Amino acid sequence: MRLVLASNNAGKLAELQALFAPLGLALVGQGELGIAEADEPHLTFIENALAKARHAAQLAQGAAIADDSGLCVDALGGAPGVRSARYAEDFGQPKSDRSNNWVLLERLSGVKAPAERTACFVCALVAVRSADDPQPLVALGRWSGVILPAPRGESGFGYDPLLLIPELQRSVAELNPGEKNARSHRGLAAREMLRQMREVWGLG
Ligand code: IMP
Repeated sequence: MRLVLASNNAGKLAELQALFAPLGLALVGQGELGIAEADEPHLTFIENALAKARHAAQLAQGAAIADDSGLCVDALGGAPGVRSARYAEDFGQPKSDRSNNWVLLERLSGVKAPAERTACFVCALVAVRSADDPQPLVALGRWSGVILPAPRGESGFGYDPLLLIPELQRSVAELNPGEKNARSHRGLAAREMLRQMREVWGLG
């Protein structure tokens, strides 16, 4: 079975391909099918993921899965949240992981104590068999840590260099892909999604 991923984010695609490998699914990025990114106008990860999954399923005429995810920082009232990919743009900076990280550190410059720099990555996965599927599968994952004063590590993508996982004393960007997937918000959500796809869709 082919499942279209409603994202053009290469970091997400690589992680999800590894996480969905046990199902023997072909996970294809929507960009490969010429499908442009959907709007993400909603206030929650779940609503945006559902909108993206329906959009990709409509244009691909088949099953699709969307990942809407981001970083929620307690001291910033949950920001950047659903604006995580475009956070820098909201402050007049170019759209890139590096600018997003820089803007976040600037916004937190007055908050020094690690106990006040708590944050979590959130991932909402929504899968539909067709654009009008009345029974979308929904899975959520959350991964908590502390925002570092400066980036650390080279692997992963997005805000990975800024989130310290206290029990490991390493940033997410200091973990290898297997270590990240075993613990991450996306790994948690993907394992729950696999369980539902086996139970509800009857997949291997
Ligand atoms: P989306 O495409 O609207 O879901 O935006 C996701 C954004 O959240 C990414 O561009 C990253 O900035 C951030 N993000 C989501 N998941 C991760 C992750 O696993 N590591 C680091 N940043 C992430």
